Amino acid sequence: MTCSEEILRNAVKAKFGRAVTMGRTAILTRNHNDRAACHYCGPCERGCSTNSYFASPFTTIADAAKTGRLTLITDAVAARLTMKDGKAAGVQYIDRTTRQAREAKAKIMILCASTLESTRLLLNSGAANSSGVLGKYLMDHIYGGGAAGDMPMVETRPWAGMPRRPNGIYVPRFTNVKAKMTDGFIRGYGYQGGGSTSFDFGAPGFGANYKDAVRQGRTSLSLGLWGECLARKENSVEIDRNRVDAWGIPVLKVSADWSDNEKKLWQHGREQSAQMLEAAGAKNVRLTGEHSVPGFCIHETGTARMGNDPKTSVVNKYCQAHDLENVFVTDGACWVSSGCQNPTLTMMALTVRACDYIVREYSRKLA
Ligand code: SF4
Repeated sequence: MTCSEEILRNAVKAKFGRAVTMGRTAILTRNHNDRAACHYCGPCERGCSTNSYFASPFTTIADAAKTGRLTLITDAVAARLTMKDGKAAGVQYIDRTTRQAREAKAKIMILCASTLESTRLLLNSGAANSSGVLGKYLMDHIYGGGAAGDMPMVETRPWAGMPRRPNGIYVPRFTNVKAKMTDGFIRGYGYQGGGSTSFDFGAPGFGANYKDAVRQGRTSLSLGLWGECLARKENSVEIDRNRVDAWGIPVLKVSADWSDNEKKLWQHGREQSAQMLEAAGAKNVRLTGEHSVPGFCIHETGTARMGNDPKTSVVNKYCQAHDLENVFVTDGACWVSSGCQNPTLTMMALTVRACDYIVREYSRKLA
């Protein structure tokens, strides 16, 4: 943590009894499987040359390649499942370079194309929808607001740039953990944020005075909230019969909006973030941002929901389609609630559980 983050952590704990911690990520802190521990160089968004953060090309796909039994088909745009005798027989795809339609046949198909693309594949196949809920209960996180303030009590010189680390701070959800409803809303939100020092190019003056003022820098502290979206049937996707993508595959039409619950928790979270910054002694605390529109957070989940009852869900607890036992959907499409946390680690855990089931139990049936 930076100095201002430590101040925030101690003040928030003392005044509200809430946690401020580092975010959780799939990044190595120790060398593991020929991958090096993170060395805190900073620019993760440019790619990690030491393979310290999780990414499939140098973890799962690399492991699969080592078996010698992996065929990786690139430039393939999956269009739909092909069917035979009531089971899925393969995946039809368009070769992106030749635009020819091709088919990959398989005994088991695992759709992990991202939430909406997996559902789109199923809808375009006319499959796995005896329940009628395929495409329904779409969710995303409401986000895009919080508070920011200045921390002049923190020494800003010599300026050393942003913290060199792959993550920021996190404030776990505290509303409705024990209570059922706070201020008219259920569930809650978590915060991501950070405190860092930057040059203050907006400093007054010019010439030597301006340069000195810029070098003083400014330490600011901010929190942004990510809120839970309730699963509602009316938030849904369907195939648009009048539009196709560049490869002639029908696209999705999306209908989604926030309910009052999301709007209320967002407003509540914004105000709480300002109060926490004030408790840390921040100056010039201001509310920031406007809430996003659904889809903007790119945390979409739902639309092929999981459940025990085939009448009300699309897949079972192993992400296996009730209607097509050799098809699995292992991304965010199977979710029935969105939580407020970033979804990827949970998607990965569900995928591991589904793959474990396929390897240990289901594939034996096919042998
Ligand atoms: S800071 Fe980011 S890019 Fe650098 S080693 Fe760590 S994970 Fe990789």
